[in-house]
Amino acid sequence: MSRLVSEALLLRAVDFGESDRIVHLLTPETGRLTAIAKGARRSVKRFPGTLDLFNHLRVSVSRRRGGRAMAFLERAVLISPFLELRAVPTRYALASYLLELMDRMAPEGGAGPDTQRLFSFALSSLSALEGMAPDLRIRLLFELRALDALGLRPELRHCVRCGAEPGVRAGFYVADGGVVCSSCTVRLEGVLPVHLGTLRVLQQALDYDVDRLERLVPGAQAVVEARNLLFRFQRFHVGLELRSERFLDESLGEPVA
Ligand SMILES: [Zn+2]
Repeated sequence: MSRLVSEALLLRAVDFGESDRIVHLLTPETGRLTAIAKGARRSVKRFPGTLDLFNHLRVSVSRRRGGRAMAFLERAVLISPFLELRAVPTRYALASYLLELMDRMAPEGGAGPDTQRLFSFALSSLSALEGMAPDLRIRLLFELRALDALGLRPELRHCVRCGAEPGVRAGFYVADGGVVCSSCTVRLEGVLPVHLGTLRVLQQALDYDVDRLERLVPGAQAVVEARNLLFRFQRFHVGLELRSERFLDESLGEPVA
C-alpha cells in the first residue's frame, strides 16, 4: 500500500452501502482521485463533517501499488468549507458546475505541473466566487478559465488553419478549437461568426488572475457571442450536458435550450 497525504477538494460524494461514502477528490498530486470512505456516515472521528461538496480538505489516502482498485480515504480534516458559496444560489450553482466539469474532465491519476495548476485554479476560483454575485458574464469567464485549466484552451489570437491574424471577418471553428481567418472561413462549414472585440475580451479573460475576472466587462454583443461559442466548444469537448448545467442556467435566468 502507498499512502498519499495531500490537500484535496471534494468534487462529488455519494453514499455507498450501509455506512460508506464514495468521494471524488481533486488533488494537486494526482488530479482526480476516487476513494471510498469506509464507515464515513458513522465515524465522526475520522471524517468530522468533512465529506461535502466544495470542501477544501487535508486527506490521507491509501492505495494499492500499481493496482487499479479504488483507494481508501483514511482520514479527512477540513481546511475550508467555502460557506459563502452556499449562501447565494447563483454562487452555489456556478461553483457546482465548475466542480462537475473537473469531475468529468480532470485526468485521473495524472501527475505533474498540469494537475498542480488545475488544483490551484479550482481552489482560487472557489475562493474568488465567495465574494462575487455571478451573472452570465461571470459564468462565461470562469467557464473559459476552467476549460483552459483542463487543457482545453481555445486559440483566440491566430487562425488555427493558417496562422494568420484573424481579421474582421473572423470566425470560430469549434472542431479545430479556435479562431479562423476570413480566407479560411470561406472553405469551412459551420464556422461561428465572432467579432474581434469578443476574441479580445476572451483573451483577456485567459490572461487575468482569477480573482480579477470580475473587472472584465464585455459588451452585450460579446456576451452573446461568447455564450454561443463557449456552449458549443464545451459541448464538443465534454460531449454531454452536465447535471448541474440546467440548474445553473435556471439560476442565472437563462433560457434553457
Ligand atoms: Zn486562416
